[in-house]
Amino acid sequence: MVTTNRSAAPPQKDSSQLRQKTMIAEHYARLARAGETGDKNVYTFVPGNLTELLRAFDLLPVLPEINALQSAMRGKSREYIAIAEKLGHSEDVCTYVKCDLGMMKSGNVGPTGEPLPKPDLLLLSYTGCFTFMKWFEILRQEYDAPVVMLHVPYQSEGKITGAMRDYVVKQLREEVIPALEKISGKRYDEDRLRGLLANSARAEDDLVFVLESAKHTPSPIDAYFGGVYYIGPIFTAFRGTEEAVDYYRLLRSEVSERIERGQGPVTPDGEMGKERFRVVVEGPPNWTSFHQFWRMFADEGAVVVASTYTKVGGVYDTGFRHDPDHPLETLAEYCMGCYTNLSLPSRVEMLSRYVRDYSADGLLVNSIKSCNSFSAGQLLMMREVESRTGKPAGFIESDLVDPRYFSAANIKNRLESYFQMIEQRRAGAGA
Ligand code: SF4
Repeated sequence: MVTTNRSAAPPQKDSSQLRQKTMIAEHYARLARAGETGDKNVYTFVPGNLTELLRAFDLLPVLPEINALQSAMRGKSREYIAIAEKLGHSEDVCTYVKCDLGMMKSGNVGPTGEPLPKPDLLLLSYTGCFTFMKWFEILRQEYDAPVVMLHVPYQSEGKITGAMRDYVVKQLREEVIPALEKISGKRYDEDRLRGLLANSARAEDDLVFVLESAKHTPSPIDAYFGGVYYIGPIFTAFRGTEEAVDYYRLLRSEVSERIERGQGPVTPDGEMGKERFRVVVEGPPNWTSFHQFWRMFADEGAVVVASTYTKVGGVYDTGFRHDPDHPLETLAEYCMGCYTNLSLPSRVEMLSRYVRDYSADGLLVNSIKSCNSFSAGQLLMMREVESRTGKPAGFIESDLVDPRYFSAANIKNRLESYFQMIEQRRAGAGA
């Protein structure tokens, strides 16, 4: 018998969700018209993206990871990955890369069905994942586009030193900004950048409020499945814009109302029923069966109260905000602070803190077959968090955008066992 924890209320979309959808659709539409309007674009990655700097030159960001995940949610990634594998890219290669390549080889039609422009520049902001370099090497060959690389030092010692910051600022001044001036035909305007950074800080304040709202019981949000919608604008093309400021203000007010009413999260099927389990999740979600995956949690009354995936495009809950008074230094610190650039001890520290601060029942790892950046060391991290917090950890496996690696029955079984284990621990603690 299939049980469900969902309420009978019909599914409804929040105003913020509708607004976010419109923002993203308009961005893709603008990219599609770039040939007529003359808008220039820069392909770059989510971790360590320099959106405010690009916007200061009126350049449009294109994020290949976002294209890949959006293609997966629309059921297109299987075909794209098959094309890349036929071209010789191995099964072990990150599936975002293969999905992107397959999309390009199919005419570079983006997830909304509109064509994407060729890159005017590839801005390789290297933050912790070696695949980023190989990915843009391939795109450089395919498009014959110029590349500018921003080398971001890894936080191996768990901190950012002055020398590390200076090293990144120097590259921004001497390599990245000249490259952006060249393709845009505009001079660097630091005052304009400051204005955009001030907008970023406002939006970041509201995003942190939203993510930390999950400390309430019941949590008014799901900080993983819902969280990926909340990070959408700020992690992609909109950080620094007025639209992002408005979106996060709206989202914050919706979440505040949910807290006041004592409501739990909204799931794909409407209001979630009683909150039974609170978990912290490490690792990206699966995108090919995203809603099915979410339902496996919602049906059990499980809410994700904190996740590391929602920190890949910036860690803000430890206090970092973009600082308009130090524009290039703040961009450097932002890049170095992204989750993918953190050492394993720092990740363990973050996860343990989340389990404690969000009163979680435990940690759940979704290990992604093709993402070494996330998966390396996860078993060790899991054991360490378990021993520091005394809360049980669980482990499931899937993939980002390759539907061949989403085994629903297997994942569901493991989740059910994990939630049973939490219940047994509770019963034991109460005995
Ligand atoms: S390996 Fe992981 S972090 Fe690196 S590009 Fe692929 S999905 Fe992103």
